[in-house]
Amino acid sequence: MFQRLFKKKIASWAFEGGSLALPEGFKEASLVIERGKIQNIETSRLASRKDSRIIDLEGMLVFPGFINAHDHLEFGLYPVLARRRYQNYVEWTQDIHEHCDRQIKAAQAMPLNDRLWASAYRNLLSGATSVIHHNPWHAEFDPDFPVRVMPSLRWGHSLEFDRVPRGLTARWDHRPFVIHLAEGVDDLARREVETFLAVGNRPLRSVLIHGIAIDPDDPNHGSDIGREAGLIWCPRSNMRLYGATARIGDLKNRINIMLGTDSELTSPGDIFGELKAAQETGFLTDEEILASVTKTPAKVFNWRGLGALLRGYRADLIVIRRETSDPWNVLFNLKPSLIELILKDGEIMVASETMMKRLQLNSPPFAGIGGTAGLPPLRGASGDAGPPEAGPRQQEAGTATSRHFSRVRAGERALWVRGPLTALLNRWRRLGWLTQGFLASVEPDE
Ligand SMILES: [Zn+2]
Repeated sequence: MFQRLFKKKIASWAFEGGSLALPEGFKEASLVIERGKIQNIETSRLASRKDSRIIDLEGMLVFPGFINAHDHLEFGLYPVLARRRYQNYVEWTQDIHEHCDRQIKAAQAMPLNDRLWASAYRNLLSGATSVIHHNPWHAEFDPDFPVRVMPSLRWGHSLEFDRVPRGLTARWDHRPFVIHLAEGVDDLARREVETFLAVGNRPLRSVLIHGIAIDPDDPNHGSDIGREAGLIWCPRSNMRLYGATARIGDLKNRINIMLGTDSELTSPGDIFGELKAAQETGFLTDEEILASVTKTPAKVFNWRGLGALLRGYRADLIVIRRETSDPWNVLFNLKPSLIELILKDGEIMVASETMMKRLQLNSPPFAGIGGTAGLPPLRGASGDAGPPEAGPRQQEAGTATSRHFSRVRAGERALWVRGPLTALLNRWRRLGWLTQGFLASVEPDE
């Protein structure tokens, strides 16, 4: 009863005083959220409304939720399997199956749902509220899953492992076709570009992943590649396996460039790290790098209402504490301990203690920020996710994931994270599944 009254009372949330990464650049502006969407963005101060709560974001930066353009979510909790540098992906695959059989078997024995949830939290805690998952769809990707997964992706693995995938020549579909291509530095990888471009009657514009061996100076590659929809660049995975990446600086004027992590199998795999790695190459401008995790993938995959802070768009936001005055410097040095708030569809996914206080969410009951679901008390929510032996789904038997929060520690700071992360971290640590990677630096905090 009280909760219903409370929800009725606060119809919208307004954030003031922060610097927003708007399509035209960084600008101090106010942002109003209602029913999970950005209802308004204004450069003037907002008039106070009875049904609106105003939150001060002084000293903070606001980005649209990032889109990780390439991940294989099943490989969460896997160790990085790369013993040396390789010439191409076929050689890498053969090598790890010959020499890393024990690690592969151990990783495959971990329940699928644990691996999916580990990937989801790795993405969420590095600001990626949306992910393009390259592999079959899983029932686990429902609205309670911590990140939004691109539905109905059309994909094939690669020319070597799929030959010419059937989907490549389908005429009836307007979605882009996504495929690993030219992943390597030798002739096999170079020939793939020609083979691919020679597939006749390709009505679809494709999205190519990696493209390391695409030669912008080769007339057989360069001119035709521009007909494709986009290129997904995973710099850390590429450098780790092949010591090289695609010539993004020479390709960026011909094809849309998007940034992806790839999976934990080939890279530490978080978007914060990819942003920094991309910047260090000098291939893209700062604005182009931000676009590669926001508006470019939204446009290429026609993922509506994502990738920008615009009126009517989904309220996916990342609010970051600003430690230096240059916003680009902040973007390329992101770490979980700088996160103040992450919203997905207007719902709190991650929040610092400071932000919870500013949101006046320290006492129950309370509603989501202009989202649709009411949230339960935060107090005592941590670690109450059920027996650690259960999989992520069973852990919240009787409670929807969206209705409780975990408390974790990232660096010096405590963060509230939606869902059973505390219980999962404890379970993964106890079973020895979390020994490296991004999540290994996140501690349960009880
Ligand atoms: Zn991949």
